[in-house]
Amino acid sequence: MLKANYHTHTKLCNHAVGMPEDYVLKAIELGFKELGMSCHAPVPRDFMSEEEYINNWLQRNMTLEEYYTIYLPALDEVIAKYGKQIKIYKGLETEYIPGHEEYYIGLLANLDYLNLGIHYFLSDGIEKNSYDDVDYKTIYDYANVAVMAMKTGLFKCLVHPDLFYFNYKDENGKQTFDKHCKAVTNLICKTASDLGVYLEVNANGLANSKKYGFKDEWLYPRKEFWKIAKTYPNLKIIIGADAHDMAKLYSEDVKKVEQFCADLGLKVLDFMEI
Ligand SMILES: [Zn+2]
Ligand SMILES: [Zn+2]
Repeated sequence: MLKANYHTHTKLCNHAVGMPEDYVLKAIELGFKELGMSCHAPVPRDFMSEEEYINNWLQRNMTLEEYYTIYLPALDEVIAKYGKQIKIYKGLETEYIPGHEEYYIGLLANLDYLNLGIHYFLSDGIEKNSYDDVDYKTIYDYANVAVMAMKTGLFKCLVHPDLFYFNYKDENGKQTFDKHCKAVTNLICKTASDLGVYLEVNANGLANSKKYGFKDEWLYPRKEFWKIAKTYPNLKIIIGADAHDMAKLYSEDVKKVEQFCADLGLKVLDFMEI
């Protein structure tokens, strides 16, 4: 049974429901000890071209103004109101765009932690989408962004590190967990292990996999990835609900992911040290 969740969204990202208070109340009801709020971070328009911005769905994220005038005040409010009942952390889920370290440092000035989610990555000079554009060549660009980001020390946890497999195409145009997937998995796990960055087994992957017709075999969390992860004894692994609805903080899918980890014999931590 989860005791904490550090991957929690709000309706400010325009594809979730509920404000921080709704999630906090649900977490208290569930008996959670800690809750980390981590809605999708705003991305300034001048960080990329208009086309890249739209391809990566950034128009739906909260704006910087909403971040300062709605998100942060809402977090301070729930901490003042419920902070004695549950430990609440202020966070965001952000991408990593090399060269914009100052921006992430600025965000962290008001937060406890940043989750790193690689929904897009720089490849051949343009931002490509992790759901659609990963193949046996671009997978190394995905890995490269993950490694560079972890090395900055700005990110506490890499969420859904196995997202690269979502629509992966091998050298024959098929979706197999080939040698390139294995190499990238090892690179990500080794870097995270060496640097003490948490890796997250993401429960929202089940719903996303179902949309593509997958039932028993999820696109992510991907079994082959986590079997390799298991071979890194110092790797810090947590389960994340990636809740876009307060009802999903401890859903059937989260329970399936707990079972998935137990079946694999993965050592999962209850809490992130923040
Ligand atoms: Zn989301
Ligand atoms: Zn998320």
